[in-house]
Amino acid sequence: MSVTRWPLFPVTVVGSWPRPRWLLDAMKRRSPDLDAARDEATLLAVKYQEDAGVDIVTDGEQRRDNFYSFICERLEGIRLMTMADLLDYVEDKAAFESLLQALDVPAFAIKNPTVVGPLRRREPLVLRDFEFVRAHTRRPIKVTLPGPYLVSRSTWVKGLSDAAYPTRESLADAIVAILRDEIQALAAAGADIVQLDEPVLSEVVFAGKAATRTFMCAALAASASPEAELALAVELVNRVVEGVRGPLTALHVCRGNWSPQEDVLLSGSYEPLLPYFARMQVDQFVLEYATPRAGALDALRGLPARASVGLGVVNPRTTAIEAPAAIAERVRTLSRILGPERIFLNPDCGFGTFAERPVASTATAFAKLQALTAAAVLLRKEAGA
Ligand SMILES: [Zn+2]
Repeated sequence: MSVTRWPLFPVTVVGSWPRPRWLLDAMKRRSPDLDAARDEATLLAVKYQEDAGVDIVTDGEQRRDNFYSFICERLEGIRLMTMADLLDYVEDKAAFESLLQALDVPAFAIKNPTVVGPLRRREPLVLRDFEFVRAHTRRPIKVTLPGPYLVSRSTWVKGLSDAAYPTRESLADAIVAILRDEIQALAAAGADIVQLDEPVLSEVVFAGKAATRTFMCAALAASASPEAELALAVELVNRVVEGVRGPLTALHVCRGNWSPQEDVLLSGSYEPLLPYFARMQVDQFVLEYATPRAGALDALRGLPARASVGLGVVNPRTTAIEAPAAIAERVRTLSRILGPERIFLNPDCGFGTFAERPVASTATAFAKLQALTAAAVLLRKEAGA
């Protein structure tokens, strides 16, 4: 890990930025100008981050419908299926339907990437997106990718995927290979941070074996015990990042980011995940801590000494802008536990994880990033940096 690429208490984002209305319209119409609209929207997302003073920017995921379903556009053998389509393949239909009702989401409205044949790359997953941003900013760049556990768990559906991949494990092997190739290409192209998004790990811990719910893709309850699922996640992440040189590798785990209603989102400390984090060979854990649902920072004492933390200190789902002094105080608390050089500052999650349902307006997201950078300025001054 390089320490010269960014200042002390580097400010970054988790990934997504609210998409402009004209981009959403172009996406919906499958406009012939969609690629150009995506380019323009990406430039705007980068500009907002730069203007707010963010040290490490992303493309705002402007080319994606959400943080992981976009892989259907880039890969053969996988397609978006509605929950209504998938219902035919779900074992416990009643539980599945009551879950969708509880979430206030009509079954036809959610689409899940589903493997229906052998996976082949039509084009790189995100390399070209990275290259576009690289051509338009001088700042270091973070690239986000859906993690191997999330993808292999959510895309394998019995009755649809097993002709190409008899087991979820055999599909996971294919996904690991695709993600490894992508990260090697990103490393060669000079990406600064590569972040794997595995939000579903919190659901494995908090919802437990009996639960059939998952907060993104309800068709797919984990089949094994939480311990076995987490051990699998560790193995898959380690296989993906093994031998990666150049970019800092990061893992993002949160508790869902589809609703501004805090009480419908999962709740619980990262503590049960810490033993698994300790075995993951990534350089950084990007964690939400602005929401009280994440518990106390003390849990992070269990992190391996080599790892840094992307500390969530603003909540993307609230409209009140956090005070820089209060943000700085949170960071000081963690700084006493880990030391200042192991802390990055970021929001808890993306501002626009799902294209049609961003959790923040552009103005709110911008103000929150400004608060983050103001806090970083305070902290650097104190540190004499
Ligand atoms: Zn998240």
